[in-house]
Amino acid sequence: MTLALFTTGVGSRPDGAAWASAYDLVLYNAVYVGGAVVCVLAAVRHAAERLAWASLALALLLSVGGNLAWTLVLAPMGEPPYPSVADAFWIAYFLPLYVALIGLIRTRVGRFHTSMWLDGGIGALGATAVAVALLLEPALRLTEGDLATVVTNLAYPLADVVLLALLVAVSAILGVRRDHTLLLVGGGILVNLAGDIVYLDLATTGVYVEGGPLDLTWLGAVVMMAVAAHRSDRGTPPARDTDTQVGWRVLAVPMVCNLASLAVLGIGWGDQMSPWAAWCAIGCVLAGVGRTTVTFREVRALNEVRLEARTDELTGLPNRRALLEAARAVVAEATTARPAALLLLDLDGFKEVNDSLGHGAGDELLCQVGPRLAPALRPGDLLARLGGDEFAVLLPATDLVTAADRAGVVDELLRQPFPVEGIRLHVGVSIGVSTAPVPADDVQELLRCADVAMYAAKTDRSGVQVYVPDPGSGSSERLRTMEELRTALVEGELDVHLQPQVSMDDGRVVGCEALLRWNHPTRGLLSPAVVLPAAEQAGLLRPLTDVVLDRSLDAVARWWDTHRVPVSVNLAAANVADLDLPAKVAAKLAQRGLPPEALTLELVEDTLMSDPERGRTVLGQLRRLGVRTSIDDYGTGYSSLAYLRHLPADELKLDRSLTADVARDERAAAIVRHTAALAHDLGLSLVAEGVEDLATGRRLADLGCDVAQGYGIARPMPLAAFLGWLAGERTERLRTPV
Ligand code: C2E
Ligand code: CA
Ligand code: CA
Repeated sequence: MTLALFTTGVGSRPDGAAWASAYDLVLYNAVYVGGAVVCVLAAVRHAAERLAWASLALALLLSVGGNLAWTLVLAPMGEPPYPSVADAFWIAYFLPLYVALIGLIRTRVGRFHTSMWLDGGIGALGATAVAVALLLEPALRLTEGDLATVVTNLAYPLADVVLLALLVAVSAILGVRRDHTLLLVGGGILVNLAGDIVYLDLATTGVYVEGGPLDLTWLGAVVMMAVAAHRSDRGTPPARDTDTQVGWRVLAVPMVCNLASLAVLGIGWGDQMSPWAAWCAIGCVLAGVGRTTVTFREVRALNEVRLEARTDELTGLPNRRALLEAARAVVAEATTARPAALLLLDLDGFKEVNDSLGHGAGDELLCQVGPRLAPALRPGDLLARLGGDEFAVLLPATDLVTAADRAGVVDELLRQPFPVEGIRLHVGVSIGVSTAPVPADDVQELLRCADVAMYAAKTDRSGVQVYVPDPGSGSSERLRTMEELRTALVEGELDVHLQPQVSMDDGRVVGCEALLRWNHPTRGLLSPAVVLPAAEQAGLLRPLTDVVLDRSLDAVARWWDTHRVPVSVNLAAANVADLDLPAKVAAKLAQRGLPPEALTLELVEDTLMSDPERGRTVLGQLRRLGVRTSIDDYGTGYSSLAYLRHLPADELKLDRSLTADVARDERAAAIVRHTAALAHDLGLSLVAEGVEDLATGRRLADLGCDVAQGYGIARPMPLAAFLGWLAGERTERLRTPV
């Protein structure tokens, strides 16, 4: 510090010519030479910025050249000539400085694009406008003398103006950023400029004294540049800025330049302002207008790129990325009261299409999926192709039941044949359904759950599967479910969904099955697969059946007067062994003024096995009451057809495993035909379960079944929906009239 003050003469220093020349010659220039050495070292170490640091070193050395010429040759003359050789050095000093700035920006910008050039132009023109008005203008007015003097006097401010313009242009291009090297070099240049301006002012008025505090600015500038060079290779090299960015950091400098230009125009208007400043200011504003246009174009292009990145090339549908983004937003907004759902679709048999007809046909098929599903989508839904033959539908604000219904619609639409290359292709689809925030609380989990469900749908060829958390996984979960079930029974969280049963003869609704659903407050809609094992373990099967009976009879009471359609309720083994059941059922029917024919009770044949005596007693009492009984899931148990005749029942329900393949498998068809014949001999009506499509329904009708139930007719639905169905819907006649 002392040295600096001493060097510049600001601090006290001994008098005397020897000291003066020691100061002027050695100490002052030593700072410059030192700075140049640091720059040379930086150039050696830092290959990428070599041009910049070498130029800066050259600039400093040129400065030293000027100083030496002044001190050694010109000053001793007493009356030195002006301009002199020293001025030549000092003016030459600017050229490598320009190169250094350009070198620094080249290492920081990978590729220049239009907006950068414009930013640079705005910076340069704005800075020039201001600098011409403030710097050149006064210099012009003050300058007098012969041509050489005038030129030299003008050369300094002009070089400064160019330097300033370049510096501002660089900052306009790079934007506001924490780049220590640039900040130091720029700061050094600015300090140097400030020194020059003050010097110009003092020199023209003739009050400049050599070795005054002003010298501190020049030395300070050298020190700043040296520090910049010294730390240039420290830390990570500055990142190359090739991306178009729009933000205040990028726009700040051009904006300030534009405002400054307007200020120059405003202040100088009407005054005798230099036309140069005015033209630069106008140029700057025009460049600003150009920049706005370019920005607009860039933003639009950016949006197009974004859109492209989110669109599936083949089908034009949104792609996986688009789905993930949308799902993230939708899942974040979903609540248990207002859940969101995801359908994951995977085409069945697509590979066969590809293999047998070629990829062209496969592509043609995939392209038809979007338009085909359009009627199933509401505003706000998103259909995306995830890749291959996998699609997804995101349903905001949709609960599990509605989502499953929508999946049914999608399933139905995709089952219609696709015209491809003149052939009508049948492909099926497997759909997995899941919801957020329960059971999935993020997008990945939602996809996973839907995927598990989709896989289940594929495996059992059921078309649609809803994700059900594995009931066996984790005994603590089972325990909690049991505890919660107790509350659910009291709180009325249990309900039934109704699935229509239609007559094969004319498609009329002749019954419906009540299927248990638990509207769990956090886990969403739970299926019997979760509820029943927990209820059984907790010994809650009897109260559960009470609730189901109440709900089912409440439901049937709603329509009994207009439609004589009975409801079927499933019984568990524990119910069949319940000696109080017949009395309870009678009381519940009486409470609602319903006749016994309004109720059918379904039981699986092996529920009778555990205590056949007791079961037979209970069933006998129920039948005497007039309540119909039905043997459920026939075909899955071990009993022979002969066993049928011992069962006290009115109806036989053929399990899906028997009915599913009748359209394809003659053996399955034969079993159904014989069972039907025997059932009719015994006076039992025959219900075919799991009718998933009308073709199967028709075949089953021809094989002798009386009633059809299954997704092909309708899915289980809440009471309100069923009432609507009952009033309006007619399934087409399944049996060919004889
Ligand atoms: P289930 O008696 O065989 O009932 C038919 C099941 O098959 C229902 O499943 C129904 O949604 C489904 N289903 C109907 N049509 C089709 C079809 O075309 N394709 C396929 N893949 N499935 C179809 P859910 O509702 O999950 O019920 C499962 C089982 O839970 C029932 O089988 C029944 O045994 C039992 N269950 C349901 N509700 C109750 C109840 O209130 N009490 C008792 N004890 N058991 C019940
Ligand atoms: Ca059943
Ligand atoms: Ca069944």
